[in-house]
Amino acid sequence: MADNGVLVCSTLMGETVEQMLKQMQLAKETGADCVELRLDCLNGFDAAGDLEKLLKGRVLPAIITCRPKSEGGNYEGDEQKRLNTLSLAYDLGADFIDVELQAMSPFVSQRSKKNSQNCKIIVSSYVNGSTPSSEDLGHLVAKMQSTGADILKVVTTATNITDVSHIFKLIPHCQVPIIACVMGDRGLISQLLGPKFGGYLIYGSIGSGKDLIPGQPKLADLINIYKIGRLTRDTKVFGVIANPVGHSKGPILHNQAFRETGFNGVYVPLLVDDLSDFLKVYSAPDFAGFSVGIPHKEAAVKCCDEVQPLAKSIGAVNTIVRRKSDGKLVGYNTDCEGAISAIEDGLRGESGYKSSESSSPLAGKLFVLVGAGGAGRALAFGAKQRGARVVITNRNFERAKALANAVGGEAIPMEALERFCPETGMVLANTSAVGMQPNVDSTPLPKEAMEPYSLVFDAVYTPRETRLLREAKEAGKIVVSGLEMFIRQAIGQYELFTGNLAPTELMRKIVIRDF
Ligand code: NAP
Repeated sequence: MADNGVLVCSTLMGETVEQMLKQMQLAKETGADCVELRLDCLNGFDAAGDLEKLLKGRVLPAIITCRPKSEGGNYEGDEQKRLNTLSLAYDLGADFIDVELQAMSPFVSQRSKKNSQNCKIIVSSYVNGSTPSSEDLGHLVAKMQSTGADILKVVTTATNITDVSHIFKLIPHCQVPIIACVMGDRGLISQLLGPKFGGYLIYGSIGSGKDLIPGQPKLADLINIYKIGRLTRDTKVFGVIANPVGHSKGPILHNQAFRETGFNGVYVPLLVDDLSDFLKVYSAPDFAGFSVGIPHKEAAVKCCDEVQPLAKSIGAVNTIVRRKSDGKLVGYNTDCEGAISAIEDGLRGESGYKSSESSSPLAGKLFVLVGAGGAGRALAFGAKQRGARVVITNRNFERAKALANAVGGEAIPMEALERFCPETGMVLANTSAVGMQPNVDSTPLPKEAMEPYSLVFDAVYTPRETRLLREAKEAGKIVVSGLEMFIRQAIGQYELFTGNLAPTELMRKIVIRDF
């Protein structure tokens, strides 16, 4: 069990007893504290024989569950048979038995009096549809508590990430240990942050890819990335706000950096639809700062109480920090310095973090920018500030023209990019999403058209080497990767989040080793 007492559980949904026992071994090796055996997933289930094999062969404490269809499971058979199965599990000495709220009373009256000192009863309720209000959840929990069960389990579904806040409000006030689980991609933080708010148990999936249960993090990530056992009530929450957010590598980097420097923080992915609503609901003192990604960087300018001048002129905020003294939200842009300093170092042939020369190698250069979103605006203003002449192209040409106007540059249509060759030694910077996973075969500029450029930069960092960068390297150009921008902007964010100097070498090492 973890330092904070939380149990990490894997739900096993194998179709045979042998599969479940194998999955249990894997869950144990990955670091689970217990497993939930979903009997309703077994094919041709034979209650007496299968239960005995599962319980005898278990290598971890087991929760026995046989979930009926009405509660989100697969069991469609006779209710009395189902209750008999749960009673049998009790007699056979299961560690936990999960009984649905409406089945609690018949289960208790038929359960034998024999045994089972160590068997804990979990009363569970699956709420179909969206997550109820805090008040309605409070009523539900009171009803569940009155059954006398040892542990309560509430499962809801999030239609919006703000739904999860109802659960976070509920957990600390519950007088009985509670498992709260919000299903769906928008409910993921119910598991990642559950231990901070006092949740009894959280779920991690041993599956991966399409086998992942929506809303359940990977078990290995809970153990290795989030170090979930270390979360305490005082842990500050940071995260990346984006939509989609699953590809973000921020949690890998920031959680390790926090840990290695002894900072009590956790950094989670936040799948946000409405930024303003999110920031109102997830407030001080727990939620301390955010990275902002696609598509919220421009909206973030309006949502902050104060915006630093560079971010304001760029019109995009990629970092929000809740100021300790007054709880106000302050917006910054660390993309600009991160990308521009990386390009300058590329031009100088340097690889270090800080550039020492006072004049920029970008001064006087033609800087051709693809993309006019948040990252595009950051690079346009940054390049202009360093004395470059900025040319912008974008899928939405009106946006390119507006940005060119704002920085005193020129706009060209996307179709003109391949033929654009007013001089040699130009810098090409892609800040559009072209080439980003899963569209890894696309590129904003084919290899044949790279001749007039001396340096090619790509803000896209998933994949690590985009088609644009691979072809630029083949064409003999200096290449600067989005990963380098990512490292540098993240270093800037770490310093804003914690108020401390960033462990720069460590962060660079983590990105190179783990990304
Ligand atoms: P954003 O504000 O949403 O802007 C997206 C940009 O991509 C817009 O210019 C958009 O053009 C363009 N775009 C999207 N899909 C396109 C397509 N199919 N064809 C052509 N253009 C397309 O996002 P952002 O924050 O600027 O991010 C843009 C890229 O930079 C992303 O790949 C992101 O991962 C990367 N990025 C990297 C870092 C880093 O640290 N390395 C930091 C920030 C961003 P329209 O205006 O026509 O929609």
